[in-house]
Amino acid sequence: MSRNQQLFERAQQTIPGGVNSPVRAFRSVGGTPRFIERASGPYMWDADGTRYIDYIGSWGPMIVGHAHPEVVQALRETVDRSFSFGAPTEAEITIAEEICKLMPSMEQVRMVSSGTEATMSALRLARGFTGRDLIIKFEGCYHGHADSLLVKAGSGLLTFADTTKNAPSSAGVPADIAKHTMVLEYNNVEQLKEAFAKHRGEVAAVIVEPVAGNMNLVRASQDFLQAMRDLCTADGAMLILDEVMTGFRVALGGAQSLYGIRPDLTCLGKVIGGGLPAAAFGGRRDIMAALAPLGGVYQAGTLSGNPLAVAAGLTTLRLIQKPGFHDALAAQTRKLADGLVALAQAAGVPFSADTVGGMFGLYFRAEVPRSFAEVTQSDTAAFNRFFHAMLDAGVYLAPSAFEAGFVSAAHDDAVIAATLEAARTAFGKL
Ligand code: PMP
Repeated sequence: MSRNQQLFERAQQTIPGGVNSPVRAFRSVGGTPRFIERASGPYMWDADGTRYIDYIGSWGPMIVGHAHPEVVQALRETVDRSFSFGAPTEAEITIAEEICKLMPSMEQVRMVSSGTEATMSALRLARGFTGRDLIIKFEGCYHGHADSLLVKAGSGLLTFADTTKNAPSSAGVPADIAKHTMVLEYNNVEQLKEAFAKHRGEVAAVIVEPVAGNMNLVRASQDFLQAMRDLCTADGAMLILDEVMTGFRVALGGAQSLYGIRPDLTCLGKVIGGGLPAAAFGGRRDIMAALAPLGGVYQAGTLSGNPLAVAAGLTTLRLIQKPGFHDALAAQTRKLADGLVALAQAAGVPFSADTVGGMFGLYFRAEVPRSFAEVTQSDTAAFNRFFHAMLDAGVYLAPSAFEAGFVSAAHDDAVIAATLEAARTAFGKL
């Protein structure tokens, strides 16, 4: 039995499903999860000593590659001064200044420890500030696992006419909470307009992934985001861009800079922690003033602004501001996607791919999807076979057909070429 298998069996004794976050368990692709021992640059090594080219990058944070020497150095320098005080530090001001500089829609920012906390807190703030309860989210978007956000639509268009039909997508979420979350179709402008017309003055916030990365990768159309901005402004609702994944990843200024959309609030995570637990939410100064200790919306955290997390995040934010960083990252990501499409075509496999900055989507269908419904039409069985063929060849893709992939600055030409060589064989086997 491989050491990965041994560890997986042992893990299941004391950890539900053997993992601390569900998708790690390889449930949808089958097989044994790899237990990772170490990683460096674009590579990870598992418990059996096998090396993989990593296209997960901890689901986004590792944008400068694993164990980047400057991040390691920053952590070393910080750790000796102890690593949690429960009192403010200067580094927290510096990272706040840095974030507000890079994303000018964020006039003030509050640090938290996970993306879930960021979105949950942003929703509470939007509700507290507007005095309204209703939230609009979109099918296929994931915003962490707070109760209000684990909700899916009952049935498409009819559903939003009656918000009580919205069903929780997890056991344990009270229907009384889910009924305040309306779920609409991603990229459906008409439906959004209709929802605002029906619920004038009731919507606290619209929350959206401006480039969706939790239903594989699906870009929002410019019209969709613009309509959202206009409708929110006209109705006094808050527009929350969830840039936990896209922030500093699709462009230095996030998706909001690509689309030219100024949200009222933004949620950040992943890259701003550089691989340590840090996330943030922020936006308009007048809204942020409603937060405790200034205002009546409570929000707090024992480890918020943790010195190690801030040190890793700050160093990562500095590294990605080097001239040309995102252009190079986007070019490598494009090279990977174009290469895969060409290989699939040569092998006669229905396949398409899309990229935005350092994020990519691989689809086992002929055309790039524009909605959740289209994403679900891809051939998951083909993906699963491709995933395992790639894994066997030393390339670690996300273990699900419905997750985006991530490239880091350490993925150089040789790494991309090695990936494509593995893919040539993998597509051939399909
Ligand atoms: N929002 C988005 C867009 C995400 O991709 C994620 C995590 N993948 C979250 C929120 C939740 O972040 P976390 O896992 O840190 O709680």
